[in-house]
Amino acid sequence: MKMPDEVPETLIAPCGVTCLACYVHLREKKSCSGCCSLMDDKPSHCAVCTIRSCVTAHHVTFCAECEDFPCVTIKQMDRRYRDRYHVSVIENGRRRRMIGTEAFLKEEKARWTCACGGAISQHDQVCTECGKAI
Ligand SMILES: [Zn+2]
Repeated sequence: MKMPDEVPETLIAPCGVTCLACYVHLREKKSCSGCCSLMDDKPSHCAVCTIRSCVTAHHVTFCAECEDFPCVTIKQMDRRYRDRYHVSVIENGRRRRMIGTEAFLKEEKARWTCACGGAISQHDQVCTECGKAI
């Protein structure tokens, strides 16, 4: 799939995961429209995510805005993401807080766009268009 020109802010999750580069968003069938989308198309593990409800309970838009950040929950998730995908959701959150959501999303779009113009899946670490590994 080609990286789209317009990237809505619904494609970034409160935890720091960029849905834009998620394998569920990038697949052709039953594509998820993102954590913050109002569409009921999320995979089950995202639909029941504790971080989403935690963010709501703390009256913040995303984790890094919370006074408890980085808490045990996000630290565990960060470790999992760093180990499996070489992505730090904590660093993503700090960066988003520092430069703002719009600029952060722009950086993420560039980060996950292959030289061929395709979108790279952070979970599979390959371009969804040409199959090149990152
Ligand atoms: Zn490519």
